[in-house]
Amino acid sequence: MLKIDRTHKRTVFIADLHLSGNRPDINSAFKTFIQSQRELDALFIMGDLFEYWIGDDIAEPFALEVAQLIKQASSRFPIYYTHGNRDFLIDNSFAQLSGMTLLPEVQKIDLYGRQAIVAHGDSLCTDDHDYQKFRRFRNQKWARWLYLHLPKKRRQKIADGIRENSASSKQGKTLEIMDVNASAVEATLNQYQAQLLIHGHTHRPFLHDLKDGRKRWVVGDWYQQTSALVVSDTDAQLISSEL
Ligand code: MN
Repeated sequence: MLKIDRTHKRTVFIADLHLSGNRPDINSAFKTFIQSQRELDALFIMGDLFEYWIGDDIAEPFALEVAQLIKQASSRFPIYYTHGNRDFLIDNSFAQLSGMTLLPEVQKIDLYGRQAIVAHGDSLCTDDHDYQKFRRFRNQKWARWLYLHLPKKRRQKIADGIRENSASSKQGKTLEIMDVNASAVEATLNQYQAQLLIHGHTHRPFLHDLKDGRKRWVVGDWYQQTSALVVSDTDAQLISSEL
């Protein structure tokens, strides 16, 4: 378990920024956001920081600038990274460059005395069987190895294909299928003996009260606005601003 420092009693969670070379507006919102963060005990970036990631070795220039921004901020507070379904290939070399610590898919933390779980959220969308099948495949070491040894153009083509596929298959899926499954949430909280689940991925920011005093806090995406969850020792707040 990761114990969060209590010095400032303020920890921030973000996810699903989907940064890319095509959206300079989001990139600059991220710059403003991260440069203005002061007196945090930790910043958690819970996945899909990037729209896609096809290998640390061929990171685009805008991504290297993002790395630099995170690195600068990491001298003020620790920064933790959970992989998303878009950027699950971020590896140690990019993490090191950015000064952030890579977390496992599910990480238990002690957040000001609360036992919490941090995850991207895609692993909890168990009603989406096609996606879960793909997830099992891409989590295989050999599949990742093979992919990362393909030439850049091939990697790009495969990534484009996956994104197109996911965009068209989403049209046939109901909102319920693409949300987290309540039993999966409960099972995960039980397994890790936690009261609180913090995630992104679904792009549905909300502070949910579950039964038995448990909570599920969902941080939103940055497509049209920014979204961040600010947690103190007594309070939790979702904040958002215009891009
Ligand atoms: Mn996602």
